Amino acid sequence: MMAESNRMVVLGTRNHKKGIELAALLGPLGITVRDLSEFADVPEVEETGTTFAENAALKATGYARYVKHWVLADDSGLCVDALKGAPGVYSARYAGPSATDEDNNQRLLADLASVPTERRSSHYVCHVALADPAGNIRARAEDVCCGRMLTEYHGTGGFGYDPLFELPEYHRTFGELAPEVKKCLSHRARAMRKIAFELLVCLSS
Ligand code: IMP
Repeated sequence: MMAESNRMVVLGTRNHKKGIELAALLGPLGITVRDLSEFADVPEVEETGTTFAENAALKATGYARYVKHWVLADDSGLCVDALKGAPGVYSARYAGPSATDEDNNQRLLADLASVPTERRSSHYVCHVALADPAGNIRARAEDVCCGRMLTEYHGTGGFGYDPLFELPEYHRTFGELAPEVKKCLSHRARAMRKIAFELLVCLSS
């Protein structure tokens, strides 16, 4: 039987698919991951910031103060150049406060309906923040993944805007590419590579 690592972090997210991606990125670092659902009655942290950095910090510090463990939170979203960076930090609620991924994708397709292929460039952003058990930010990192928005869905993998987000070099969307490929190329993977060393140092202290 493999011993459980004593480096442990709680994921500060309620997005199950995002949690799966983060856990897959932390596993190879020997970090054990726990989920907010393992703690009783954790109150929701309101994402009142206007930047990815602010919202990631709000989630990391807010949840850490409550669960009293190290918390890693990611705030991420899609920025479309032809929409002046929208939906950006409002990616999860682009079509309204309780929008589904499908609602958001439909709104995006409608908003881009008259935009030609050469002007459909976009990028995903991921900001990750690590808070200690007292709720102080101890490390942070941000990175992007560049792509282009298609006019129809391709593939069913990933989540959110993935079926519409094409990586031009691969001629495939994240909806079509295998999870192992997204795990190497995504904004989340890139941000996690940047924070990995500090994360390991903090969790080993
Ligand atoms: P957050 O949970 O407030 O950070 O919002 C994240 C939102 O950004 C998701 O609900 C998606 O709409 C979008 N998003 C972030 N990362 C991804 C991704 O890897 N694929 C697709 N959509 C993403």
